[in-house]
Amino acid sequence: MALIVQKFGGTSVKDTGRIKNVASRVGKYRLRGDQVVTVVSAMGGVTDNLIKLASEINPLPSEREMDMLLATGEQTTIALLAMALHSLDLPAVSLTGAQAGIVTDGVHSKAKIRNITPKQVHTMLDEGNVVIVAGFQGQTSDGRITTLGRGGSDLTAIALASALKADLCQIYTDVDGVYTADPRIVLDARKLDEISYDEMLEMAATGAKVMQSRSVEFAKKFNVKFEVRSSLNNNPGTIVTEETDSMEAVVIRGVALDKNQAKVTLVGVPDQPGMAARVFSSLAKAAINIDMIVQNISHGTATPATDLSFTVDKSDLAKAQKVIGELQADVKFAEAIADEDIAKVSVVGVGMRTHSGVAAKVFEMLGENGINIEMISTSEIKISVVVEGAKGEEATRALHTAFLGEET
Ligand code: ADP
Ligand code: ASP
Ligand code: MG
Repeated sequence: MALIVQKFGGTSVKDTGRIKNVASRVGKYRLRGDQVVTVVSAMGGVTDNLIKLASEINPLPSEREMDMLLATGEQTTIALLAMALHSLDLPAVSLTGAQAGIVTDGVHSKAKIRNITPKQVHTMLDEGNVVIVAGFQGQTSDGRITTLGRGGSDLTAIALASALKADLCQIYTDVDGVYTADPRIVLDARKLDEISYDEMLEMAATGAKVMQSRSVEFAKKFNVKFEVRSSLNNNPGTIVTEETDSMEAVVIRGVALDKNQAKVTLVGVPDQPGMAARVFSSLAKAAINIDMIVQNISHGTATPATDLSFTVDKSDLAKAQKVIGELQADVKFAEAIADEDIAKVSVVGVGMRTHSGVAAKVFEMLGENGINIEMISTSEIKISVVVEGAKGEEATRALHTAFLGEET
């Protein structure tokens, strides 16, 4: 008998037919004697719809109420899945994140898990139930409902697998596993049999939304090996695990595209010590994550000034603009320009640690394809570039062909 945590994402539960399909898959494991904890997302499109509803009422809604609203999406699915299992004569109970013992900090919309005390989960498993837990949500120690960031049901599953010391953690989605690039954009992308935590983390953080990046961070920290696989067939998926020596032989594991970033440029920031600190500490205080930062060389001699550009998630742009607007009197920059028409393309691979020339090849390929680079950032195992939004997919395909195409 094994203890298995299985997570089903929005597309896997997008209608009642798919929910019944999930119930029979879960049921098979339960009937062979395994203990099953099932984490589910909101039905496909529901979270986006709830966000839209809120924006029609108030463009900057209260974060507490937003989390209260978004948590309802997952709550619908857990009850429906429990009913579907009951129809198959299988005992099942649903639990909200709070009932499953998931305690978070108080940062609404991107709360971090502080601890998990899954007492009720254990009790209900011991009574023979399939335990269905609402993904993406938790509760603060003073009883406020929080959510864990978009795609956060992945984190619920990984964190529960760790807290329950599960034998197996499976992330079911609508593709066969993790590919060398989004298979919807790069048609000849290949499914990977395995990928290291670090590579998966960089891919996820740079836009491969097949896994939420914070969930991979958690998996790495607590060494939770997991499998990404399809809820629509029985094909073997991708194992995400610790790095092995042989992984470094491959220079580039994958290419990722992120269309959800926006660029903010502060024009004419006085070129004096402490200015950047003021800007970024104000943004940090508002819990806005900054990804790339570029500062141009000074221009003008009498009062030297610089242009400072940075990127944020599109969902944080309105909040970032508000913070920046409030800073203008203090920092005295000339104007702030927001550009939502950007795309970030990244190549990722642990092999970059031991192979040189990757950056040069990235720039060459983009140049040959007439794609202009607006920003660049690198880490030990990643190179990211920001390009014009409309060129994002073309750049992704060009880099995939260059580094991962058949002939390479
Ligand atoms: P779920 O609803 O199951 O959480 P998501 O929509 O969040 O699923 O993630 C699955 C999607 O991620 C796929 O449909 C695919 O288009 C996209 N994706 C992006 N990059 C990759 C990649 N490298 N490998 C696999 N899928 C990817
Ligand atoms: N429903 C949430 C979202 O759409 C969480 C998830 O699907 O994992 O982001
Ligand atoms: Mg997802």
